[in-house]
Amino acid sequence: MYPTLALYIDGEFIGGENRKTQDIINPATQEVIGQLPHATRDDLDRALEAASRAFQTWRNSSPMQRAEILRKVGQLSRERAQEIGHNITLDQGKPLAESVGEVMSCADHTDWHAEECRRIYGRVIPPRDPNVRQIVLREPIGVCVAFTPWNFPYNQAIRKICAAIGAGCTIILKGPEDSPSAVMAIAQMFHEAGLPAGVLNIVWGVPHEISDYLIRSPIVRKVSFTGSVPVGKQLASLAGAHMKPVTMELGGHSPVIVFDDADVTRAAKMLAKFKIRNAGQVCVSPTRFYIHEKVYDDFLATFVDTLKGIRVGDGLEPETQMGPLAHERRVPAMTRFVEDAVQLGGKVVLGGEPLDRKGFFFSPTVVTDVSESALLMTEEPFGPIAPLVRFTDTDDVIRRANSLPYGLSSYVFTNSLQTATQVSNGLEAGMVNINHFGSALPETPFGGIKESGIGSEGGSETFDGYLVTKFVTHV
Ligand code: NAD
Repeated sequence: MYPTLALYIDGEFIGGENRKTQDIINPATQEVIGQLPHATRDDLDRALEAASRAFQTWRNSSPMQRAEILRKVGQLSRERAQEIGHNITLDQGKPLAESVGEVMSCADHTDWHAEECRRIYGRVIPPRDPNVRQIVLREPIGVCVAFTPWNFPYNQAIRKICAAIGAGCTIILKGPEDSPSAVMAIAQMFHEAGLPAGVLNIVWGVPHEISDYLIRSPIVRKVSFTGSVPVGKQLASLAGAHMKPVTMELGGHSPVIVFDDADVTRAAKMLAKFKIRNAGQVCVSPTRFYIHEKVYDDFLATFVDTLKGIRVGDGLEPETQMGPLAHERRVPAMTRFVEDAVQLGGKVVLGGEPLDRKGFFFSPTVVTDVSESALLMTEEPFGPIAPLVRFTDTDDVIRRANSLPYGLSSYVFTNSLQTATQVSNGLEAGMVNINHFGSALPETPFGGIKESGIGSEGGSETFDGYLVTKFVTHV
């Protein structure tokens, strides 16, 4: 059932003949489930040449033609969501319902880009001389390269592909080597939907070798990356050295602020379930919990109680609510966060350890009384760990929430409109969610500020990073 893994270059699926291959591991069982071929230099050159050639035609394709292909992929993905989701659970670990949900929600992203690409408008600027015409055109930027991660292997890839292709660009995408099946499925669907050869190319390999080679290529005009802040900075520096624009969707350390006037029980239950989604491996996962002193004990009791009831297991088992971490290296990373927090006075009130079973499992963990200088409060944990601290003063908690270089998402629970307005104005974040979790819809912009990134994906902003502006004037 797990797909044969391949490169996809110039409309052809290319297998492992004589190429280096990499084992794909199921994180719940540690079994090898597939072999991923790595691209050679010749493969990368071929992908560059194909993307460059295809761009000459695709840039002139009508938005209707692009929309038709995108819509077809949306339809195919709805039909295949169970199968694609099953494979995502096999190579990434999240519960099947989450994997299938990821694919289904991305069908909406494909539809959105199909609709929105017909509205890439320019404008006419009133001239000083009535005989002059002044027109602003927005044109596709050219060949794009994209590097996408393993936590939402379908979502992160399809958003970049739809934006590039919908804008009239061609793209070479390096997907996540740890969890490649979703990107394979995407390539297969675009192939079947009739996307011309070379418009989409998929490569795999050693991440820094591929990105270094592709970003330096004079053929490439645009770089898009989703992943960690340190890697994002490296790629943005390299792109900058070659004067190429970037879209960077990087990590965060999202504050949650629960005020004493909030519905505390509801907030604690909602946040516990949101925290363990994808085992906390979500860039917008709530990661620093600031709870008003007056409601701290009530919040903690309900939060811990809800987490205690979470079923951790293999994502293919129907009752599982939280799967394993996506790969082996994330388990010691979690232990390091907990040990450091404890050394600085933190108290582990739930979990704190890997599960004693096969697979890369770490228990849902709550740490209280955490020092604000602990790694857990300053570095993105990217796992199922929640640090809780107290606050009393609104200005003070806004200052603490803004104290890190990140600015991705943020969460506020309050029943006061005045507090909601004050905090949403004060938070330095690309996204502010008040009393619910409302980010990441196709029609809304998704992106961070400060070190969390550059540019937005989704919303009417979605094509901005893939277009250039041309001014045309004539008499
Ligand atoms: P990592 O920083 O090594 O890798 C993160 C992702 O970037 C992976 O998909 C990897 O293949 C890719 N990558 C790494 N170096 C690259 C390079 N030079 N060129 C192109 N792609 C490159 O870390 P990791 O152990 O895989 O994940 C841990 C950290 O990554 C987490 O703590 C989290 O901060 C971050 N991360 C963020 C997101 C996100 O959605 N923003 C997703 C996955 C991981």
